[in-house]
Amino acid sequence: MNQVVVLNNVSKVFGDGSAPALDGITVAIPGGQVSAVMGPSGSGKSTLLNLVGGLDRPTSGSVVIDGEDLARLNEAGLARFRRTRVGIIFQFFNLLNNLSAVENVLIPAQLAGAPAPLARRRADDLMERLEIAEFRNKYPARMSGGQRQRVAIARALINNPALLLADEPTGALDSRSGDQVMAILDDLNRSGQTIVLVTHDARLARTHATRVIELIDGRVARDADGRLPVGVAAR
Ligand code: ADP
Ligand code: MG
Repeated sequence: MNQVVVLNNVSKVFGDGSAPALDGITVAIPGGQVSAVMGPSGSGKSTLLNLVGGLDRPTSGSVVIDGEDLARLNEAGLARFRRTRVGIIFQFFNLLNNLSAVENVLIPAQLAGAPAPLARRRADDLMERLEIAEFRNKYPARMSGGQRQRVAIARALINNPALLLADEPTGALDSRSGDQVMAILDDLNRSGQTIVLVTHDARLARTHATRVIELIDGRVARDADGRLPVGVAAR
């Protein structure tokens, strides 16, 4: 099966001389899965996700995403990689407050130079699918957390990335909006989207991920199956 994420002996040491945030991570994630990266606060989950998303570079080891060895990319190449090959959502949405919902969704398409009519149509389709079409022209400050996260998901998907990364996507939501967001991620995965979900919540990981990679102190402590893959009946 084609591997979307291949990490080989990846370590990350931050400059302050403390223990490594990541210490020799080797992991391969095939396309089509929802993998959870699970572990306590400070175990290195966000550091790992940032390396996979090209937001940061490892101290040593190799990171190959969707066939692209990120070490071979210069800063401009890495910026292009982030805009087109991965989509990232965060706990606190990271929307731009001075732009409307649809303007937020369109940002990565504009940065990637996509033709405007095509991008607008895709934005409308995504917002329809995520049931936020009615908030199209609203500003983030006037939307609930769950609505903002759905705008962030549409923005992450506008360029059709091979990989959707989610860092504690329900961490700032009440349980009902959190469930809605997770149902959207499940639905996207059923349509073939590869997802890496970072969470400290073992129940969330087991319920939504086909695989659970557990980090403790920057190392893989456990790597196990989660729920059954979509389409495989439970016995
Ligand atoms: P998690 O997401 O699992 O809570 P993080 O990946 O954020 O953990 O952090 C892992 C470790 O790396 C922690 O000890 C944290 O303090 C440290 N760390 C993360 N980012 C930085 C940074 N930019 N500078 C220095 N230390 C950092
Ligand atoms: Mg984190």
